[in-house]
Amino acid sequence: MEQNYNLIGIGIGVFNLSLAALSDKSPGVNAAFFDGKPHFDWHSEIMFSDSEMQTSFLKDLVMGADPTSPYSFMNYLVQEGLFYSFMNTNRKVVTRREFEMYCQWVSKKLAHRLNFGAPIDEVNFKDGKFHVRSGNKFSTADNICIGTGLTPNVPDFAKNFIGPKVFHAKSPQLKDLDVNGKNVVVIGGGQTGIEIFRNCFKGKWGQPNSTRLISSRANLEPLDNSPFVNEYFTPNYVDEFFGLDQDIKDPIVRHQKMASDGNTPEYLEALYNDIYQLRHVYRNDATIEILPSRCMERIEEVNNSYRLTVSSTFTKKEETHMADIVILSTGFRTRIPHIIEPIQNMIEFDSADRFILQKNFSVKWKGPAQNKIYAMNFSRHGHGISEPQTSLMAWRSATVINDMLGKELYPTTNMVPNFVNYRGF
Ligand SMILES: Cc1cc2nc3c(=O)[nH]c(=O)nc-3n(C[C@H](O)[C@H](O)[C@H](O)COP(=O)(O)OP(=O)(O)OC[C@H]3O[C@@H](n4cnc5c(N)ncnc54)[C@H](O)[C@@H]3O)c2cc1C
Repeated sequence: MEQNYNLIGIGIGVFNLSLAALSDKSPGVNAAFFDGKPHFDWHSEIMFSDSEMQTSFLKDLVMGADPTSPYSFMNYLVQEGLFYSFMNTNRKVVTRREFEMYCQWVSKKLAHRLNFGAPIDEVNFKDGKFHVRSGNKFSTADNICIGTGLTPNVPDFAKNFIGPKVFHAKSPQLKDLDVNGKNVVVIGGGQTGIEIFRNCFKGKWGQPNSTRLISSRANLEPLDNSPFVNEYFTPNYVDEFFGLDQDIKDPIVRHQKMASDGNTPEYLEALYNDIYQLRHVYRNDATIEILPSRCMERIEEVNNSYRLTVSSTFTKKEETHMADIVILSTGFRTRIPHIIEPIQNMIEFDSADRFILQKNFSVKWKGPAQNKIYAMNFSRHGHGISEPQTSLMAWRSATVINDMLGKELYPTTNMVPNFVNYRGF
């Protein structure tokens, strides 16, 4: 028999896990969540021992909406006997591994709502319900929330070379990598790029002959998390931004890139110190090069290795670099999941084929108004720079639940005004 819910979540990444955690304690919400993975993990392929969160652990799955929830990071620490020891570490940020452990702890507590090993294959809509199929099992729901995440971005210049030696950072290849005596090029100067670069020259995968980082950015640029910039990550800012015309939104989001995609300043210091120690204390002459202001032009295969041609925006000249291994730290892009094909003709897309989300995070569609398709992490262009970040995930989950219930179960609109006023009064 088909199970019926008032909410089905598709994908159990951090964002839908946040929704699951909040909905578990929300009277009137009967929700189930599905994911193809065997258990919760958080981009584990690109998690290193030195990978730290870029956001505070207080911005956890639930805290920003319901600090009394049992699924907070603080409660995880207390229940696991870690609270006092953790406090003595004096940390403001936790490692990504520790945040993943917290999420795994929550996912076990929510086992009654979460279905792992259950990929959703198809979503349909008939007779006033969403019909969601996983294998030969069907469930129905009044509303769905798509939280299927982003997909690795493989630039055109690399597409024909993808394999064991040229691959996106989020690939299984990284796990068993052997760089001994090899020339390694990491492409991309975001946080993942510099983490792979540092781990590589420090010997995580063996001793490379050379390690180079190529980035189109002007330098290794720090994450800007100063207080006024951090107001971008507030419900008030989202509210102000949401009302703008699209042609104004796109350049604003581009301008705000370093508030979200910059390098953690502490990590940059550690990286700088490592290179200093190697060069000037241990007099190690391994080739470690940081090559910013370079745009990748092409890759060519030459005698079992690769010639990379880059054009420098600094010198306006072309350069070539040889590599045995090329690791693409070229980010992620939005992908509308194919599983919604049966209902795609009822959904509105913008001129760039993106979902058009309403303020309540529901997708514009031609179906009945009482049946909503919510989507998480699909509206950077609509809701702004905070959308792919954890900063506002609890608030966003609360917004969805309030909208579903038609009442403000969680306080989502009571924020004091920001200090920076963009729109006037
Ligand atoms: C390396 C890395 C580090 C990051 N660090 C931070 C940070 O410190 N702070 C911060 O704020 N943000 C960070 N982010 C950004 C953001 O928080 C993460 O990308 C986050 O994982 C996004 O969550 P999500 O739920 O949208 O997607 P994901 O975590 O990618 O989860 C999507 C899930 O959907 C499942 N799925 C896909 N298709 C289906 C289907 N058809 N059926 C069922 N399940 C499906 C997948 O298996 C997956 O488990 C980081 C991102 C990366 C890549």
